[in-house]
Amino acid sequence: MIQASTSKTHSPLLAEALALFLATQIAVQVQAIGVTFLTDNLTLAKAAASPTLSDAQVPWELRQQIAEYKKASELNSKIYHIKRNLNGVAHDCAQQAIRQTQSLPIFSCSNSAHNMLGNCPIASSLQNFFSQEIVLHAVNCL
Ligand SMILES: [Zn+2]
Repeated sequence: MIQASTSKTHSPLLAEALALFLATQIAVQVQAIGVTFLTDNLTLAKAAASPTLSDAQVPWELRQQIAEYKKASELNSKIYHIKRNLNGVAHDCAQQAIRQTQSLPIFSCSNSAHNMLGNCPIASSLQNFFSQEIVLHAVNCL
């Protein structure tokens, strides 16, 4: 679970697309495969699932983020729309991120397999994560 924010958006739809962009970047960085993305934004789900960027389902303002999502084909990812009331954890996380003022992300790991290794590969791979658009606030490896 990752808590992040951006000041580079003026619309909830673009904020959702940036969240997908971030999740895609991180999944690539941790070399995840068979990734499933869940979103409560139907427009974003349709845009990401569309066959091409020129599809009418892809709003012009989301082309960059959707292009990055589609470019990460090694993830072999799928995206599904879920009802907003099923997305309560993400909504609460987003509300906390809005109030966040801390500049460095807090990393925590409660994954027993990682504890046995003595190292969390997720935290290690995200220690030097940098994006001009997005600030990480907290990374909780579960
Ligand atoms: Zn971990």
